[in-house]
Amino acid sequence: MGFDDSVLICDEVDPVLNKILQDNGLNVSYEPKITPEQIKEKISSFNIVIVRSRTTLTREIIEKADKCKIIARVGVGLDNVDQVAAKEKNIRVINAAEGAMNAVAELVLGFMLSLARQTARGDREIRNGKWLKNELKGTELRGKYLGIIGLGNIGKRLGRLARALNMNIIGYDVVPIDEEFAKEVGLMKADLDTLLQSSDYISIHVPLLDSTYHLINAQKMSTMKKTAKIINTSRGGVVDEDALYDALKNGNLGGAALDVFEKEPAIGNKLAELDNVILTPHIGAQTKEAQSLAANITGEKIIQILRGVI
Ligand code: NAD
Repeated sequence: MGFDDSVLICDEVDPVLNKILQDNGLNVSYEPKITPEQIKEKISSFNIVIVRSRTTLTREIIEKADKCKIIARVGVGLDNVDQVAAKEKNIRVINAAEGAMNAVAELVLGFMLSLARQTARGDREIRNGKWLKNELKGTELRGKYLGIIGLGNIGKRLGRLARALNMNIIGYDVVPIDEEFAKEVGLMKADLDTLLQSSDYISIHVPLLDSTYHLINAQKMSTMKKTAKIINTSRGGVVDEDALYDALKNGNLGGAALDVFEKEPAIGNKLAELDNVILTPHIGAQTKEAQSLAANITGEKIIQILRGVI
């Protein structure tokens, strides 16, 4: 059975999404460069609106979406969609939560390996004409304690990957942790304070909410091991960057790797002054595989909703 709904795709997405929708008879307008003003002008004629991360669907825009039934985000976080405004208009908001889990978890693994052996710094110094062989004595991940805060899709995938490197996994979540997963990786469940005090690496995988804003602040950092390394690939704002800067500069923490920042693009961020920090430009989900998986999941979900299956 085909559908004749009209779809506006506002950002660049993997072509597989377009194909799934068109194969099911939907009318797709692919406008990856569309401006907010243009969206406001034309959104009233579409039944389905799709965004990735470039476009923000504000209340002002959503209030004009009179025929819209579904807003889809081809990714995980829904921070760029005003969900309250969507709910008021009876618009269902969906995401592709599982699409990025392996990509982000692998990025964290790369961060841990790079922090342990200071590969980013070694590369930087060679380019500056310095051969720091003696200074760059590293450590190994095997046997170290990895504290994972938030054991949803990404946190669990990371636990499984890190277990393969013989790391010990400590986990904290506000909801009960998946028992099967806990058994599989030999997870030690802990409260947040115990996790922070015991971990060599701390990786954060929670959404940004009022309750998680500056979850890792100066007080929490003061309880961690001086050699501990913090990795944040969740959302800027979950870690207090000023406190992190002070702790790293004063030798109270061992290192950090950040993919997300309170202010993005994070050009000019003072953390870039420090040697024991790795910064990447929010590339957690930026793999070919993750983008294609997210596009597939989004397309399939839309079709299932139209069929009344979910
Ligand atoms: P998820 O919803 O599957 O898991 C989040 C987990 O955090 C849940 O189990 C939840 O109970 C837990 N949680 C919520 N509040 C908590 C708190 N105060 N303390 C401890 N745990 C708490 O989400 P996910 O797919 O694993 O994504 C995790 C984060 O990664 C999100 O912030 C998402 O936006 C971000 N993300 C970033 C990128 C990137 O490009 N860097 C890509 C994808 C996702």
